[in-house]
Amino acid sequence: MVERSVPRVAIVGAGFGGLWTAKALAGKPVEVTLIDKNNYHTFFPLLYQVAAAEVDPGDIVHPVRKILREIKNVRFALAEIQAVDFETRVLDAGDLKIPYDYLVLATGSTVSYFGVPGAEQYTFPLRTMEQAINLRNHILCRFETASFEQDPEVRRRMLTFVIVGGGPTGVEFAGALEELIRGPLVKDFPNLDFSEVSVVLIEGLDRLLTYLPENLSEFTLKRLQKMGVDVRLQTMVNEVFPDGVRLQNGEVISTDTVVWSAGAKGAAVDGWGLPTNRVGQIEVTETLQVNGLPGVYVVGDLASCKIDGEALPMLAPVATQQAETAAENILRQVRGEAPEQFRYTDLGAMTVIGRNAAVANLFGRWTFTGFVAWVMWLGVHLFRLIGFRNRLMVLTNWAWDYLFFERVVRLILP
Ligand SMILES: Cc1cc2nc3c(=O)[nH]c(=O)nc-3n(C[C@H](O)[C@H](O)[C@H](O)COP(=O)(O)OP(=O)(O)OC[C@H]3O[C@@H](n4cnc5c(N)ncnc54)[C@H](O)[C@@H]3O)c2cc1C
Repeated sequence: MVERSVPRVAIVGAGFGGLWTAKALAGKPVEVTLIDKNNYHTFFPLLYQVAAAEVDPGDIVHPVRKILREIKNVRFALAEIQAVDFETRVLDAGDLKIPYDYLVLATGSTVSYFGVPGAEQYTFPLRTMEQAINLRNHILCRFETASFEQDPEVRRRMLTFVIVGGGPTGVEFAGALEELIRGPLVKDFPNLDFSEVSVVLIEGLDRLLTYLPENLSEFTLKRLQKMGVDVRLQTMVNEVFPDGVRLQNGEVISTDTVVWSAGAKGAAVDGWGLPTNRVGQIEVTETLQVNGLPGVYVVGDLASCKIDGEALPMLAPVATQQAETAAENILRQVRGEAPEQFRYTDLGAMTVIGRNAAVANLFGRWTFTGFVAWVMWLGVHLFRLIGFRNRLMVLTNWAWDYLFFERVVRLILP
C-alpha cells in the first residue's frame, strides 16, 4: 500500500454547503474533489424571480470551474453520486469512482409532498433551475391560451394560480407573480378581463413566515392582501388533480397551476445506509460527523443538526457556517487533533413581498418592515450573489422593472 502524504477530501454537492467547504479548504494541505451533477452553482434565494420572469436564469448561476479556477488544490468533477461504499471509502458515480479519506456530504434538499394525493404528479415544485423555467413557461402559456378561450369558466381556471405553502418561497413567489400579472401582463393582454385572474396562497398554519416574529407575519399578510393575493390561512390541501385542488373543508379550486412550496426533505441519500430523520436529513453529531463514521461530515440542508434541542432551519447561512466548521474539523483530524463543536450564529432572516415591501429580522433582535427592509433585502441579496456580472445584470433588471413596471425576461423557452 502506498502511504499518501496529502489526504483526499471528497465533497458531494457544490451548493452553499459544498462550495463553501471547498473554499475553506483552499490552499490547505489536502487534495479536494468537489462533485456536482450540475456544472454550476445556483443562488436559490432568487430562483423564484426566474419563475416570475424577473431575472434571467444565467444571472443567478455561476460555473463551478470558474469559481475554483484560482484554487490549486481543489478540482471539480461533473458527476451524480449514486452510492457510497463507506468501508472502502469510494464514491460511486457510475463509470467514475472517486476514492476519499474524508467525505463531506452536501447534497441539499428536495421537495416533500407529505403524501398528499396527486401533489407529486400535478404540482409545480420550485427547487431547481429547470423547474423555475418550466413554471415561467407554463404561467405565460396560460395567459396566451386564455386570451383565445371563449368559455369563461375554462378561462378562469387557466387564470387561477394556487401556491401551496406560506413560507419564504411561497410568499416571495406570490408577491412576484401578482406584480407580474398586474404590471406587464395587463399591458400585454388588453383583451383579457383581469378580474378573472387570481393568485391564491394556501398555508396550513395560522400565520405566514412562521420562522419570523408575529408582527412580521401580520405585516406580510396585510401587504399580500393589499396587492390582491387571496391568502388562506389554516387551510390544508387534501388532494391535487390535473385541473384543481381539493381543500380539507371540501372546497375545490379549479386551476391549471398549483405551485408546491410546502416542504423540503434531505436529498439523494436513499439507500446510502445512513441514519436519517423523518424528513430525510442525516443525523449528525455536534461536530457535524456521522455517528460511527468519523471521516464523514454532513453540512447544509442534508444535516439534521440541533442547537440547544432546536433543529436548525434549511437556510444558506446555516450551510455556509457548517461548511467552515466541517473544513476546520477535517484539518484538525489531519493534524491529529479532536474536531470542534459546531456553533451557529443566527444572523436573522428576511423575505421580500414586493415593490418597496419586505420584512427583516436581524440577529433575532431587530425587526424591520416596508421600504427599509426592502432596501436591506436588495443589498444583502446583491452582495451574496456570486460574480460581478451577475450582480450587474440582476441590478439592471430590478432597476428596469422598478422604473418601467416591465419584466424583461417573460420568454417562453423550450
Ligand atoms: C427556492 C428556494 C429559495 C430559497 N431562499 C432562501 C433565502 O432566501 N435565504 C436562505 O438563507 N435560504 C434560502 N433557501 C435555502 C437555501 O438555498 C439552502 O438552505 C441552501 O442552498 C442549502 O445549501 P446546501 O449546500 O445544503 O444545498 P444546495 O445549495 O441545494 O446544494 C446541493 C447541491 O448538491 C448537488 N447534488 C445533489 N445530489 C447530488 C448527487 N447525488 N451527486 C452530485 N451532486 C448532487 C445539487 O446539484 C446542488 O448543487 C432557498 C431554497 C430554495 C429552494
